Amino acid sequence: MHKSKDFLRKIVEEDLKSGKYKEVVTRFPPEPNGFPHIGHAKSISLNFGIAREYGGRCHLRMDDTNPTTEDTQYVEAIKDAVKWLGFEWDGPVRYTSDYFAKLYDYAAELIKMQKAYVDSLSEDEIREYRGTVTQPGRRSKYADRSVEENLDLFERMKNGEFQDGAHVLRAKIDMASPNMKMRDPLLYRIRHAHHFRAGDAWAIYPMYDFAHCLSDYIEGVTHSLCTLEFENNREIYDWVIETLQLKPPRPYQYEFARLNINYTVMSKRKLLELVEKGVVSGWDDPRLPTIAGYKRRGYTPESILNFCEMIGVAKANSVVDVSQLEYAIRDDLNKKVPRVMCVLDPLKITIENYEGYEEIDASYYPHDVPKEGSRKLPFSKEIYIDREDFMENPEKGYFRLTPEQPVRLKHAYIIRCKEVVKDADGNIVEIKAEYYPESKSGSDTSGIKVKSAIQWVEATSARKIEVRLYDRLFKNEAPQGIEDINPDSLKVIKDALVEPAVIEEKADERFQFERVGYFYADPVDYTDEAPVFNKIVALKDSWAKKKKAPETTAKAAPKKVHTEGETAPMSEAEQVLFDRYTKELKLNSEVANTLARDQKLSSFFEEALRSYHESVTVANIVTNEVARELKNKEISALQFQPGQIAELAKMVDEETISTKIAKQVFEEMSKSGEDPAKIVEAKGLVQISDPDVIVPIIDEIIAKNPDNVAKYRNGNTRLLGFFVGQVLKNTGGKANPKVVNELVTKALSS
Ligand code: ATP
Ligand code: MG
Repeated sequence: MHKSKDFLRKIVEEDLKSGKYKEVVTRFPPEPNGFPHIGHAKSISLNFGIAREYGGRCHLRMDDTNPTTEDTQYVEAIKDAVKWLGFEWDGPVRYTSDYFAKLYDYAAELIKMQKAYVDSLSEDEIREYRGTVTQPGRRSKYADRSVEENLDLFERMKNGEFQDGAHVLRAKIDMASPNMKMRDPLLYRIRHAHHFRAGDAWAIYPMYDFAHCLSDYIEGVTHSLCTLEFENNREIYDWVIETLQLKPPRPYQYEFARLNINYTVMSKRKLLELVEKGVVSGWDDPRLPTIAGYKRRGYTPESILNFCEMIGVAKANSVVDVSQLEYAIRDDLNKKVPRVMCVLDPLKITIENYEGYEEIDASYYPHDVPKEGSRKLPFSKEIYIDREDFMENPEKGYFRLTPEQPVRLKHAYIIRCKEVVKDADGNIVEIKAEYYPESKSGSDTSGIKVKSAIQWVEATSARKIEVRLYDRLFKNEAPQGIEDINPDSLKVIKDALVEPAVIEEKADERFQFERVGYFYADPVDYTDEAPVFNKIVALKDSWAKKKKAPETTAKAAPKKVHTEGETAPMSEAEQVLFDRYTKELKLNSEVANTLARDQKLSSFFEEALRSYHESVTVANIVTNEVARELKNKEISALQFQPGQIAELAKMVDEETISTKIAKQVFEEMSKSGEDPAKIVEAKGLVQISDPDVIVPIIDEIIAKNPDNVAKYRNGNTRLLGFFVGQVLKNTGGKANPKVVNELVTKALSS
């Protein structure tokens, strides 16, 4: 995969090429005042990633200059997060507090240069004196203190002789600067507080603007990457380093856009509030956007890193759609985890004509996942299916079990409902059913057509598990805090049933529960006696539909009007998709453009990709054929499923059918919803590649067209197409065009 370089990597490359630095040194500088979140993951993957890619080093530095909010539990959480994401920091964990003595000396240096002074205005006065964006500020009368007086006061501040707020140390820069940050910024303030590492040694603590640049310098950092809100602080960063006339090489600050995600709060302050008020179970609650939360929920480090790569690094702030992150984890797990069967809401089925017991060998992985392994599925007269998979009075388009409609039990037999048993209140408590002995999956000769296959578990061997169904923590796109909590973000099911191999064989920690979602054995609460599984993510994006729904109802949003030929700019989310399609999936830009700009189409496409990764053919079928169908329809109204389109694409790629036949099969699918393989078989559409069949046809056509043969042999090679076309026509489009091409060329040249 080749990705174009972001602006930061370009800067690093130029600096290495020009010899400005021998080695790139970055740092990840969190303040240990909360658990790191997904935004930090972006910064981690950027800082550590750049160091790794360019053979440099990355430091982990705790920016611990605020004694009242920091704690060692956060230091540990930050270390865990970096390691879990697969990175290693260079040398020991570093702490700004280790540099307190050096920083103090640098400050004294500035005082001696008359570039810093002790100010004794109150906090309010300082604010008032600073002026406004339109009005210059005024300098404090204390700015004229002598060097001696300043040094004396500063030392006594440090020794704890003054109350909090009595004095501050300020840089003497420019009270009229258009950059408000440059109006004599604060360098130190008095804080009588216990520091978790420095203890009570200091009564003054350096401000970010003073400590950060100098810590970078002390460590030999070359590229100091931070988020955009520090853009105006860059001038102070440079001022401190230049004024102190520090020996080169010196670090430079570069800003990038911070990560924001919709349906998510990201600030540590807000996260802390959720934790402290008990809205969530702790910093590692699987609904939180903390790294610890994702880890506990079952996200993989790869999925988080892929997400960071997908969203890229830019210079403008934007909000990323949380479905991108959900896509990243789904995409990762789809390639990796075993598929098993779990029933969340069990409904008993008694198969009256089945006697005895058998074990069915069933693969853990679908054919397109390059992993091996299978387990035994017990099968007997009594099984459970999900209550949702039976409907007594089915709505239109319901493909599962009904009194009239048989269904396949995944990996096993087709069953038919004989009787619905109800309790006194009319609730369905059991289904009496019948199975078709000759319908066993893999050797089905029953000829019975079903519209879907459902998951099930055998009654006596199934294991009871607790399932925690997590959903988005917030119900609206731009949540402010607790008032926007989604009341349905956690649903606990105590008595779901899972097939026994999940508990006994432990093929993995993560599973796809067929048709339900991806799940993870909770690393804290799981025991073999009382297994607990966390839902990592659903199989498809159910929010996309919910969000879309209002648009299709009467109150249509005002439509943007575009002049013909004019193209609307892509939204951020569309751009992300477009980039993924062109760069990762190598689709041509026209196809990528069509897909990225159409939400229905792209979600259908993504779905199809989950069952088959050969994206180009899937993309072609989706943008050409499926797009037509979706013009005036919702996905739910289609006769066929994305998985069936994937099957169709696969048959084309394997040259079972030609592209032309695929169109014909598609037409049939869109009417009947039948599986493509069945259609191809029923209509005898399998592509012909056998020369023994094709050559006689070619010979016949050559014999019938002596004039054209002569013209071809006299140099009119464009007639090749004529002959190939004739052969294809003769076979009803079933001949393999590539093979025909070769054979015709050969026949005509002999
Ligand atoms: P918060 O506002 O969530 O408390 P912060 O910026 O105060 O975050 P720090 O611990 O100071 O958190 O940040 C450590 C590093 O991570 C900084 O370099 C910061 O720029 C970066 N960072 C923090 N949040 C994000 C984000 N949302 N996207 C990208 N980088 C981030
Ligand atoms: Mg902060």
